[in-house]
Amino acid sequence: MESEFQAIPSPEKAREWHKTFTAEPHPAASERNNQLADFIADAWRKQGWEDVILRRYDVLHSKPRSVSLEMTEPTQYTASLREDAYEVDPDTQNTAVSSSYFGYSASGDVTAEVVYAHSGNPEDYDLLRKKGISVKGKIVLVRYSNPYSYRGFKALTAEREGAAALLIYSDPEEDGYTRGKVFPDGPWGPESHIQRGAITYDYIVPGDPTTPGWASVPGAKHIAPEEARSLPKIPALPLSWRDAKPLLENMNGLEAPKDWQGALPITYRLTGAVKAHLKVDMDTSLQPYTVVEARLRGSELPDEWVLLGNHRDAWVFGGVDPSSGTASMMELTRALGEMKQHGVRPRRTIVVCSWDGEEYALTGSTEWGEQFADDLKKKLVAYLNVDESVAGAATTAGAEGLSFSPSAVASLAPMLVEASKEVRAPSGKSLYEAWRATSMRDAKAAKPPVDSALVETRIGSGSDHTVFLNHLGRPVINLGFEGDYGVYHSMYDDHYWMEHIGDPNFEYHTALTRIWGVTALRLANADVLPFDFGFNAAALEGFLRELEKNNKIDNHKLKLKKLHEGITEFQKAGEGLREAVEHGLTAGEIAPEKIQRLNEQLMQVESNWLEPEGIPGRPWFQHLLYAARYTYAHLEFPGLTEAVEKGDWKLAEQQAKIIERAVEKNTQLLWEWRDGLQSAASGVKEKR
Ligand SMILES: [Zn+2]
Repeated sequence: MESEFQAIPSPEKAREWHKTFTAEPHPAASERNNQLADFIADAWRKQGWEDVILRRYDVLHSKPRSVSLEMTEPTQYTASLREDAYEVDPDTQNTAVSSSYFGYSASGDVTAEVVYAHSGNPEDYDLLRKKGISVKGKIVLVRYSNPYSYRGFKALTAEREGAAALLIYSDPEEDGYTRGKVFPDGPWGPESHIQRGAITYDYIVPGDPTTPGWASVPGAKHIAPEEARSLPKIPALPLSWRDAKPLLENMNGLEAPKDWQGALPITYRLTGAVKAHLKVDMDTSLQPYTVVEARLRGSELPDEWVLLGNHRDAWVFGGVDPSSGTASMMELTRALGEMKQHGVRPRRTIVVCSWDGEEYALTGSTEWGEQFADDLKKKLVAYLNVDESVAGAATTAGAEGLSFSPSAVASLAPMLVEASKEVRAPSGKSLYEAWRATSMRDAKAAKPPVDSALVETRIGSGSDHTVFLNHLGRPVINLGFEGDYGVYHSMYDDHYWMEHIGDPNFEYHTALTRIWGVTALRLANADVLPFDFGFNAAALEGFLRELEKNNKIDNHKLKLKKLHEGITEFQKAGEGLREAVEHGLTAGEIAPEKIQRLNEQLMQVESNWLEPEGIPGRPWFQHLLYAARYTYAHLEFPGLTEAVEKGDWKLAEQQAKIIERAVEKNTQLLWEWRDGLQSAASGVKEKR
């Protein structure tokens, strides 16, 4: 079945899908994005998918009525807030392209002094304070990604510091000429490129800000926007470096520290002389979002689901984000649909979704997950997310090609490595070999990593897997290729970029289709679900040691010995069960009813990581092992780690206890099954 599947995806068809999806700007709630929902539904019906349905949510949306920025002192400058057109790329001349804005910025009209605050992280404001500079009532100018932090965290930080408004610009050091050739000659951002985006506080609660924890189905109750925890309170705007430069170069105050200097040929200063007038007028109203859903009903286990998803909405054309993923998905659905037309069905049901409003607050997937929470908790084997399938330039990637950069919950990491051996990479090697080679290259290591280190098992937020993992306790995998890419969320992230710079042969698109489909088929067809809890435990032990090392935890502050011991026992139980399963399957000793119940229990292990109370301060995030930081960065043992980092040792102890109990519960469950399988095989109960 896997080889039949792999023979179908075609790079030329992926190119056609990509051209269709990137033909016009298609942000959430736009007419074009809604047309594309119908287009996908039609295509899936034609491809043979079943139960194709549009799910509608009425969501608090945010889009600009008008935005403007001018420097009023020491000289006059009006920011263009627009990106330049290039003759070689007709899409850049499309008049439907938006100006600069941030989703969920507050409306406001501010005239104030401008202060440069580097990356806009808390430690940057600490440094300003040390230099005697206050940002209270001022306009703060910060840059993207140094080190990477989600723009919504910069917004919350500026708000907490008392700033009146926030400007975020793209410095060429991060994604422009310092990195290499800029668009349209290369993958990096040109002078006028603008990184749009949302600044909602979805690391506290994602989805529609006015329905925290429940679905925005038509007629649902909405809280008042003033009560929403995830809505920013100050106006903010993204800028190209061309629009930021006049503000920076006209400052005459204290010179910024060396590591705050960017790549522009000026001296970056912290403050002095520059005043600006920022006006942001946002239209905030309920708008319909549409999730398209379809399935191939499983031939034997229709009530066990493997879910695949990709978001449809884009800030502009979405060349990489997300239409590369959409093109890969449409080739996947075409292949599985064609097989179903020949009578070949997966054993379990495969569900596929085209999400809406991911760019705003992971909204479509969150609302859908909240709507079907009860079913998903029982039936969902795993969620396989693809946001950007090709986020890099094959033309500048060198001989080894783009980096395959998946992440997965630790229990599914080994099966992903195994699946990669069956798929061919564009370089001609197996995806597994290509993955090892690019991992070695990217780490500047002398030899490739061991298999157990290939998959990133630490998972942050920032895409549609969030609700399934963090809120519903279902295992997730994220798939994609990465490389040089500096036009994220700008107008230049378009078909031209992909066709001339990113993936001219569209072979990475179909390679991604293949690994996505093979992984899905393995999960859908496996006798016993391929969770590896021994490996899972080893990863947990690694997370715990890292926590101890990073925070210099000793026994006086917090006793973690019992948790370590619990994890060791969990590892033994996981390995014991795996051996018993392998033996039982090979010998044909496990009765089908027993396999069925075993699979239910394996899914239960994942569910047992869910703590209904949630983590302290963020009740929506209920997973004990995984959450995300406010920056979107990965965060393991979130409740415990945040307590430790605050130095709240009492809370840390309580959190450690909660994890201990979940580990113990899962260990018991695995031992019982191991014993049951062994006694079925030999009639004797082996000692642990
Ligand atoms: Zn995306």
